[in-house]
Amino acid sequence: QANRVFRGEDTVIEVGDIRIGGGNFTIMAGPCSVESRDQITEVARAVNASGAQVLRGGAYKPRTSPYAFQGMELEGLELLKEARKETGMPIVTELMAPSLVEKFDEDVDIIQIGARNMQNFDLLKAVGKTRKPVLLKRGMSATIEEWLMAAEYIMAEGNPNVILCERGIRTYEKFTRNTLDLSAVLAVKKLSHLPVIVDPSHATGKRWMVKDLALAAAAVGADGLMIEVHNDPENALCDGAQSLTPEQFEDTVRGVEQILNVV
Ligand code: PEP
Ligand code: MN
Repeated sequence: QANRVFRGEDTVIEVGDIRIGGGNFTIMAGPCSVESRDQITEVARAVNASGAQVLRGGAYKPRTSPYAFQGMELEGLELLKEARKETGMPIVTELMAPSLVEKFDEDVDIIQIGARNMQNFDLLKAVGKTRKPVLLKRGMSATIEEWLMAAEYIMAEGNPNVILCERGIRTYEKFTRNTLDLSAVLAVKKLSHLPVIVDPSHATGKRWMVKDLALAAAAVGADGLMIEVHNDPENALCDGAQSLTPEQFEDTVRGVEQILNVV
């Protein structure tokens, strides 16, 4: 169960030789979407060199418009695997359909459940039947309790390996894409033993805000970050405005390291 009452010490989730939670700080980075072999390899190499431990990249994309780029699907998954082979980084990518659970269980290191599917209970049950680490993003209008109950759905099926991700919630404020709820990190850590990471990219939708909020997340005690990075953000097929260049990502990681050394 996700509740602290049932488990005092922090859950540590092992992904290869990476440990997530329990005082470790894990940075996941990569493009919003896999767009081509050159793109994903270039970004993977760059974020790996800067110190990211996990490579992200969407192959199946939940887009607001059905006419927007929907992802490279299976081909994107293959390109992610190639990038993993080349860099040695484990991969995290979003699963949208229960029918692909077995494929994802075999191919990826962490299964991402996106904000839009946080209460897709069939999907939660399906990943709960695997033992694969699951990155569960907070729904855009989900309360902390609803989010933890979604984690509970996965755990109730027998999979204890849940990583929570605060990615901003919808409020009346339109300046940012969402409103980053950093207090949720503290709340979740009090209520639950599960690791919680912060995604300042989707939280803000604005590249220039990402570094400072990444530092704030580290300062508040998050277990890690998920950050979008693109080799050519201006021409990204998805979420370019919030994607860091590899140079900005490097600068962000150095800043986070400084914060972690003082807190
Ligand atoms: C993503 O990680 O690219 C994504 C779609 O995130 P979210 O589900 O948080 O919107
Ligand atoms: Mn995105």
